[in-house]
Amino acid sequence: MSILKINALSAIDANRDRLYGMSDSIWDHPEVCYHEAYAAGLFCQALREEGFEVRTRQAGIETAFSGSFGHGSPVIGILGEFDAVPGLSQAAGIAAQKAIVEGGAGHGCGHNLLGVGSLAAAIAVKRYLEESGAPGTVRFFGCPAEEGGAGKGFMARDGVFGGLDIALSWHPGDVHAVSCESSMANYQICYRFYGTASHAAMSPEFGRSALDALELMNTGVQYLREHVPPNTRIHYAITNAGGNSPGIVQPYAEALYLIRAPRLPQVRELYGRVNKIAQGAALMTETRVETEFVKACSDTVLNTELLRVLQRNMEQVAREPISEEDEGFARSLRATQRDRTTYFEDLAADVRDPEERARLERDAASQIHDIVMPFPVEKQGFASSDVGDVSYLCPVAQVTVATMPAGTAMHSWQAVAAGKSGSAKRGMLYAAKVLAAAAIDALEDASIIERAKRELEQRTRGEAYVSPIPADVKPRIP
Ligand SMILES: [Zn+2]
Ligand SMILES: [Zn+2]
Repeated sequence: MSILKINALSAIDANRDRLYGMSDSIWDHPEVCYHEAYAAGLFCQALREEGFEVRTRQAGIETAFSGSFGHGSPVIGILGEFDAVPGLSQAAGIAAQKAIVEGGAGHGCGHNLLGVGSLAAAIAVKRYLEESGAPGTVRFFGCPAEEGGAGKGFMARDGVFGGLDIALSWHPGDVHAVSCESSMANYQICYRFYGTASHAAMSPEFGRSALDALELMNTGVQYLREHVPPNTRIHYAITNAGGNSPGIVQPYAEALYLIRAPRLPQVRELYGRVNKIAQGAALMTETRVETEFVKACSDTVLNTELLRVLQRNMEQVAREPISEEDEGFARSLRATQRDRTTYFEDLAADVRDPEERARLERDAASQIHDIVMPFPVEKQGFASSDVGDVSYLCPVAQVTVATMPAGTAMHSWQAVAAGKSGSAKRGMLYAAKVLAAAAIDALEDASIIERAKRELEQRTRGEAYVSPIPADVKPRIP
């Protein structure tokens, strides 16, 4: 590792207390879906203090921002998230379910760590640019509403990620591994049925039930599921059933549908079929249906070139030892969870080399996984992420870093409880160093970006990015 790179990474350790404070503070102020004003304020202030040129209200979104440092190309993007998950309020550091605010939000996806870790990486790259005097720009993106709002999708549609040569990100989890799973493309659509209210006993013949229409639509979609490709997913939530009185023919009902498939054209086709069912349900019940396009995500285009650079740095960058206190907390937190097949086991399943297998088996027994997983086999995952849209604009790669006890489910109270622990912070610093180190490699060796771009072009067959979100759709702020 060059001395310039070592110095840059040491900027992360030098800022440790401030970074820990920020991450804890964001954990203490869980904000959901486009309401992340507190977190956005902290990030913008930190970026300005570090000399970054800050742009707020990106894509017209109050809590979307960017901070740039340096001049000229290459331009390296680092993506940060900071939103919380609704309904997951939970006290930190205890191995029992206990909400701080009943029904409140909580950091069940570790985005307090994600955002601050990414910021730390950007600060380290800044340090490198300053010391080396090399041309290049590092740009941190504050991306709101990853949970259910597709913040990056709107930012991508409106050109916020324009001019990037590559972008890097990470996600908290329970393993150290590069992310070789492509995510699913999706559409989120609200279906609204309008009927005619009437007394359900005295004059039912005058009523036309929007709730009936919605139920028939859902039933129609249940039948559709038999005749769609097996790797697609259609799920829904009834967000308004009309009312609480069975004595009224419900004049209004709505559902939110989430349609997922490996690629966008497949989602588009399914959407057309679901629309036909909604229209059929309206026809059957003599009601009217309206659709509102809420948001959409593209699938993630993987980039082996960048993933290899991240893998190398994951293996080279040092981590602090795990404290006994953290081990103990992890043990008690794990005892509260159902024994589940972890992502770790999933990744380990592909490893054939006997020595490597033995190493994995030893680590499998630990409370907090702490080995770097071998370079994984590329897979199609079932989750979706708004990072997908960025991955069509420039080469993008991500890592997962263990910040939580082994086997912790994402979006669980256990994930929230672990969000301020020593191992969470340790993971955050490690992730920051890995991203910074990979970015510095790309600044030092122009052929990395060249190859990564060529790979993106091959994988997308050179087709230009078209946002899946129609131009007139605005982010829905709950
Ligand atoms: Zn999440
Ligand atoms: Zn997340």
